[in-house]
Amino acid sequence: MRTPVAPIAAAAAFLVSTAHAIELKFAPPDFETEYAMPYLFIPPPDGRNTWWEALILFGALSLTTWLVFKARSRRGLFGVSVFSLLFFGFYRQGCICPVGSTQNVAAAIFLPDVAVSWIIVAFFVLPLLFSLFFGRVFCASVCPLGAMQELVAIAPIRISPALERVLGLGKYIYLGLAILGVATGAGFLICRYDPFVRLYRLNDNFGMLIAAALILLIGVFIARPYCRFLCPYGVLLGWMSRFSKFHLQIPPSPCVECRLCEDSCPYNAIDMPTPRHLVEDPAQGKKRIRGLVFLAPVFILLGALGGYMMYEPLSRMHPTVSLSERIALEDRGIITERGNLQADTFRVEGKTAAQLHAESLAIKEQFKTGGALLGAFLALIISIKLIELSVIKKRTIFEPHKETCFSCGRCYPYCPVEEGA
Ligand code: SF4
Ligand code: SF4
Repeated sequence: MRTPVAPIAAAAAFLVSTAHAIELKFAPPDFETEYAMPYLFIPPPDGRNTWWEALILFGALSLTTWLVFKARSRRGLFGVSVFSLLFFGFYRQGCICPVGSTQNVAAAIFLPDVAVSWIIVAFFVLPLLFSLFFGRVFCASVCPLGAMQELVAIAPIRISPALERVLGLGKYIYLGLAILGVATGAGFLICRYDPFVRLYRLNDNFGMLIAAALILLIGVFIARPYCRFLCPYGVLLGWMSRFSKFHLQIPPSPCVECRLCEDSCPYNAIDMPTPRHLVEDPAQGKKRIRGLVFLAPVFILLGALGGYMMYEPLSRMHPTVSLSERIALEDRGIITERGNLQADTFRVEGKTAAQLHAESLAIKEQFKTGGALLGAFLALIISIKLIELSVIKKRTIFEPHKETCFSCGRCYPYCPVEEGA
């Protein structure tokens, strides 16, 4: 389904010209004035992914980098967001997108008979490379998921940093589950539960459409909830961005600590100067960090044990395991009503229940290992976060937190410092 160009262009122009004005929480200083078997692989909708789409992605990333670093234009970033939403979202129908490509790459790594096409590798690697050099410019305006949320975030409020950190663990859990799902053959969870794809395609799944509408509604006030608390690809981008050499700065030249940008970031992504009362004796800090580093292996082992013990519920994400349990319950007469499409399909396929249960048991064995690795991974992440929290860096200026900053440019208009000032 192609989208008419004229109404879209008019809508785009309207969005760019008005959204920028209404998004600001307070005025910036005026300095100058039907059933299908569960799937594992999601091919591109009709095989249209070609080299020129990778070129468009590269072009959009390059343009965004220029807008973030040189033009420092929030309005320009809005323009690219609208383009990305229309092209990568509604026209391309969100496939293949870098967020989902994480699973294709994981499948090629974990499953011996699976290969990945160069176009998918390009979509996966390009945003990560840009992030490594320039920060999360992909999130700034190229990602269609981020663009849609950014455009609706018109009255954002800030939540407490502590709540931000707790909810932010969601994306690590989702990444771990998504990799586990691919490695065990359970399926592509990110695609299956991507609410925005349903919006782009305006298709079948009413429940997911409602979920997308809810996320967008929440996103009016709590900006980019999917990006901050769920996006598995955002984890990888954040890791890359942490090491970026040329990350954006709020003032283009030295910060004068006027504090005007302090409340401008709805993502809690601005690191403040360290309050004087928090600056401590370095020896005290080192002692605390040594203790946490010493405890980390114990915590990771406990996480692995917990993940291992969760193998049974985790394995139910695999369609063979859930089908096996359903068939067992039906055969024992515990479930009497028929009409489950999966179970009914199995019964006409000719496979025996014993075969199905044997397959299910083998899959559960995989989930024992996978669950332990998932638990260890999450414990490792929590350990690192705790160690990071206990390190009190002496910071004298306001600067973006490289890992969590989306390079969205919302804070630009609040800073009075001009280049060369
Ligand atoms: S965090 Fe994820 S969903 Fe959000 S803009 Fe970045 S890649 Fe896209
Ligand atoms: S550019 Fe970064 S620090 Fe500034 S408002 Fe956006 S996310 Fe926050």
